Order: sequence, then structure tokens, then C-alpha cells
Amino acid sequence: MSLSLTFPDGNVKSFDDGVTTKDVASSISISLGKKALAGKLDGKLVDLLAPITADGAIEIITQDSKEALEVLRHTAAFVLADALSQLFPGLRFGQGASTDDGFFYDTDKDNGQVAVTDLEAIKNKMAAIIKAGGKIELASISAADAKARYQGDQFKSQLAANAGDPISGHKLGDFFDFEEGALLPDLKLLKHFDLLSVAGAYWEGKSSNPMLQRVYGTAYFKASDLEEDAKRRQEAKERDHRTIGRDLDLFFVDPEVGAGMPYWMPNGATIRRTVERYIVDREVADGYEHVYTPVAANLNLYKTSGHWQHYREDMFPPMDMGEGEELELRPMNCPSHIQIYKHHIRSYRDLPLRIAELGLMHRYEKSGALSGLQRVRAMTLNDGHTFVALDQVQDEFQKILKLIMSVYEDFDITDYSFRLSYRDPKNTEKYYANDEMWNKSQSMLKAAMDNLGLDYYEAEGEAAFYGPKLDIQTKTALGNDETMSTIQLDFMLPERFGLTYIGSDGEEHQPVMIHRGIVGTMERFIAYLIEQYKGAFPTWLAPTQAVLIPVKNDLHLDYVKMIRDKMVEAGLRVKIDDRNEKMGYKIREAQTKKVPYTVVVGDSELDSATVSVRRYGEDKAWSQSAEMFVNAVKADVANYSR
Ligand code: ATP
Ligand code: ZN
Repeated sequence: MSLSLTFPDGNVKSFDDGVTTKDVASSISISLGKKALAGKLDGKLVDLLAPITADGAIEIITQDSKEALEVLRHTAAFVLADALSQLFPGLRFGQGASTDDGFFYDTDKDNGQVAVTDLEAIKNKMAAIIKAGGKIELASISAADAKARYQGDQFKSQLAANAGDPISGHKLGDFFDFEEGALLPDLKLLKHFDLLSVAGAYWEGKSSNPMLQRVYGTAYFKASDLEEDAKRRQEAKERDHRTIGRDLDLFFVDPEVGAGMPYWMPNGATIRRTVERYIVDREVADGYEHVYTPVAANLNLYKTSGHWQHYREDMFPPMDMGEGEELELRPMNCPSHIQIYKHHIRSYRDLPLRIAELGLMHRYEKSGALSGLQRVRAMTLNDGHTFVALDQVQDEFQKILKLIMSVYEDFDITDYSFRLSYRDPKNTEKYYANDEMWNKSQSMLKAAMDNLGLDYYEAEGEAAFYGPKLDIQTKTALGNDETMSTIQLDFMLPERFGLTYIGSDGEEHQPVMIHRGIVGTMERFIAYLIEQYKGAFPTWLAPTQAVLIPVKNDLHLDYVKMIRDKMVEAGLRVKIDDRNEKMGYKIREAQTKKVPYTVVVGDSELDSATVSVRRYGEDKAWSQSAEMFVNAVKADVANYSR
């Protein structure tokens, strides 16, 4: 019997039934045979030495393949489980897997749990297992054997029960495991790995399920990659907006009160208020009209908009108000702004009509995905919807884009790129059906970008189902891509809601709707800013802009209060530190709180009507007249500068 395998370049070759990926690779070249780590058969990773028994498409995975790390890390997870089972006899297991940046294994232990302090010993055990030189082999056990083996271990039994009969997996010595995916047969390549942390993880990711302990690690083929990764993690830790948020008392999220429902403390609320006022002012100057609309509406509104059909799993369940009335917390503001549009008869003279709102919305994000302010369930979007005639789309698009870029400048956002997202031309049935609209609007967006002379890349298949869009991708402080702003054309909602305007011809026409977000949600944007600035906000955003410290309260406090009053009058946020603490301590504390200006006032300052000023992050203090200082801080705020 022979079978035929298709290679990525389209070549088809025939092989004996039962051939392995290793054999296939060796048949191409000896060096490929040596480099091969695993195979990919019809898109599924398979072990290097697994017999192939059917025709299909084959890919050979080497260290250069994007799947290579997955195989390595999956192998690391397997060895981790082996080490854990040797170190903690009777330990019960949940699931293990490789992830985008490492691997993990979940454990459940009766008496005490795996702790961070155990990581060193576990790592040593893993190293010993690797050093022993055993080979991982394909193996299988019968469902009956699995039942006996995992008796009393509810999680693993459950996994086994769903894994078929026999259960195919891998063994190394006496250790057997059956997670999905391919492993490296040879452990020699598993050299550069580390165990990173232990944290709780719900069984199957559901918060109603029991909590297991998850041991996290990572692995690379090269030592330098592992070192880079460690540096990145350290940097991430220092910038983590949740840690900084706690240290600077900006916000908190308490799962007991509501997971994903942040509470903004005065410091965080000050930053947010500053951002909100800024953005609203910029929008007003650009012709937006701001509205307030309710967070909940009759469910029918979201049936008409299509959210209920397409977006339901991200929505909170409707509230049954009795007598057939169902209220729904909105996941988006578009239907609300459509109501504003519909409230009056609109004419071409009203267009473009720009409706904006800092709109509170609710999305039922999975509990496992929630993270600080970055991903929440209650959020306020800097939302805006412009209603335009078709021939106004291009101008309006350019206007929005200019606003976005100008706002970015004020927030020091310099690293961003433009992605024009089109529908997939090979798959047009996935999209709102109107070829003419699509062609016209896509070329309009492109022309607008070319007009502005901006670089962009085009992504087919990335459009929303209702229209093409421009996404502005920023890089976070840690180098991850994030969509910060988006401008989306929409032909569908105006149709679904029957929106019209009276044209200059006296006839009814359908407007185009442009959805746009400038800075996204307050939550995610401020998480971004916290990480970007490492909590050292530029003066205009800093919750406290200056701390004033009298050297001796009895001698200098009055003078300090006078300066404070002047600053408050100038609209600045300032605090006096008159506690009975040492001067050095107070100065240091102002620095840890990342206050832009620390001001000390003693005899010589009082005599000469000056202040001694220290800028955050600088060692040296300088002397300046009190008046000049106040003006300098004012100018600093006005410039949005760092
Ligand atoms: P994601 O892919 O991150 O879930 P999305 O594509 O669903 O976001 P949109 O519907 O376009 O996002 O929402 C607009 C903006 O709302 C996003 O750019 C982002 O800033 C913000 N956002 C979306 N979901 C959340 C969330 N759960 N928490 C905080 N901000 C969010
Ligand atoms: Zn919208």
C-alpha cells in the first residue's frame, strides 16, 4: 500500500503506508531529516515518528517554522507534569498546554498546593529528567486503564473520558500523558526553559468551577531568546498598569463586588476626567455634538441592529421586566445614536451630522480574559457616529483621521501604522451584500489615504461585515500591537433602521454612517497611558502636579499656603505635605508617587520669594521665583509636554 503526500509547494509524492515525517524529511535531504522536529498533516501537528496512514497535505516543522516553539513548549509542559508527579506523588492534574508565550500545567493537590517556592526544585527535576536522556514515545492506553489510573482525580478522569478509546498520548519512562498535539521525541532540544509563576486558574476557565493551581513556564531554542524574554517580562512587570494602579491609588477591581467592573479612585478619576475633557473639547472644535443616552434599552433595539443575532455571547443577558418587556444593557452605542438621528427629519443641509458621547457600555467578557482596566465588562467608549451623504465620505474620513493624528501628538503616541481593512473578495457572501457600495467605499478610503500621503497596508478579509474600515494600530510599551482608533464605514445599519435624509433634489436618500473611536474606551486607553508613562504622567495628566514641602511648619507653612492658593487659582492640582516627617522622606515619597514637581520652601526661599524645585526623575533642584514657577507649570500643562 502506498499513500500520496502533498507538499506546501504543490508537489505530490508517494510513500509507503506507515511512513513517518522523519522518513519523509530524510527522503528530501539528509539535513532536513536531521532538522525535522515534527510534522503537520492536514493542518494538524503530528509527532516526528508517528506513522502516517492516509493521503494528505504535509509540512515539515523545523526550528524555523512558526509552529516550532509550540512543539517545544508542549514538550516542556509534558516534562513539567512528569517532574511534578515525581516530586509530589498523588498530585492530581488538570490540563497542560503550550501558549503564545510559554506553557503551563494545572494541578490540584489535596494537602497544600504547588507554591512559588517549589519552582526551583521543579525546574531542577525537569533538568534531571532531560539529562537522563530518555526518549518520549508515542503510547496509548485503553479507556478502562485510564479510568483505573485516574481514579479519584476528577479533572483528569473527565479529560480521559472525552479522549476516546484507546487514548493515544506519550510516555517517558513510567510517565504517561495524553494532551493534544505533537511532542519532540528527543529532549536534547529542551535546554533553555524557565518556570515563571504559579497562579490560580479555574477548571475549564469558568469562574463557577473549582480553582486549580497553574504553573507557568516558558521555553526557547536559543539561550539569547530566553534572556530577551526575561528582560521583557521584567519590563512588563515594571509597567504593569495593575501594579502601578495600586501603587498610585488610581483604581481597583474587586471580583467580590463585580469582576471587570472598575472603581476609579480620585487619582485615577482625575486622569480620566482630564482625558475626557480634553477629548470632548477637541471633538466640539471639530463639529461634534455631544449627547447623553441611556445604558439600557428595549431588547428589540438590538434585534433591529443585529447585535442580538451576531454579538449575543458578548452581551449581558436581558432583564425581564415583566409583561413581556425585556431591557438590555448596551454593548455598543450605535443604536442609541441612531435614535438621536431619527428623532428629527434630516435634510442634506444637516449633513455631516456628528453625534458623540462618552458612552457607557457593558460587554460580558469571559472572566478569564478580564485584566485590570485593559479588558473590563463596564466601559466608557469615546464614541462618535457621523451621518454623511455618500459623496461626503472621503472628506469626513480625512477630517476624522486628522483629528486622530493630532490627538496622538498630544499623548506622545508616535509608533503607529494604518491598516485598511477590506472585505475578502473570495468570500463576499460573508458580508453585507452590495457590491457597488463595497467597491466604491473601499476605493474612497484608499483615495483618502493617498490624498493625505500616508503609508498604509491593505488587509483583505479584515473588514467588518457591514463595511470597510481603517484601523490604527499602535504599539504598546511592551511591543504588542493594539487597535487604538478605528474609522468604520457602515451601509447596513442605516438600511436596517430605515434612515433617510431629504436631498437637494427633494427626494429621500439613505445616509452612510461612519463609526469612529479616537482613543477607544477610557479604561483601555488609560491602561495604555499608565504603561506608556510607567505611571510618571506628564504634568497635564498627573493627578497631583506639585507637592509643596515647608522646611518648618511654624516658619514656612503660611508662605507655602500662599503659593498653593496661587496654583489652585491657576487651575493646577497641588498638595502640601506638612506632616511631621523628615524632609528627605517627604521628597522621596513625592518621587515614588511620581509627582512632576516637588517644591521645598525654607528660610532662604521665604526671604527671596523663591522656591526650590525638583523635577520628577532629576537629581538636581533649582531655585526660581515663586511667580515664575507657577507660570512654568502652567505652560507645562498647556503644552501637554512631558
Ligand atoms: P476587542 O477585539 O479588544 O474585544 P473590539 O474589536 O470588540 O475589541 P470594538 O467593538 O471596536 O472593539 O470597540 C471599540 C473599542 O473599545 C476598542 O478599540 C477598545 O479600545 C475598546 N474595548 C473593547 N472591548 C473592551 C473591553 N472589554 N475592555 C476595555 N475596552 C474595550
Ligand atoms: Zn458604532
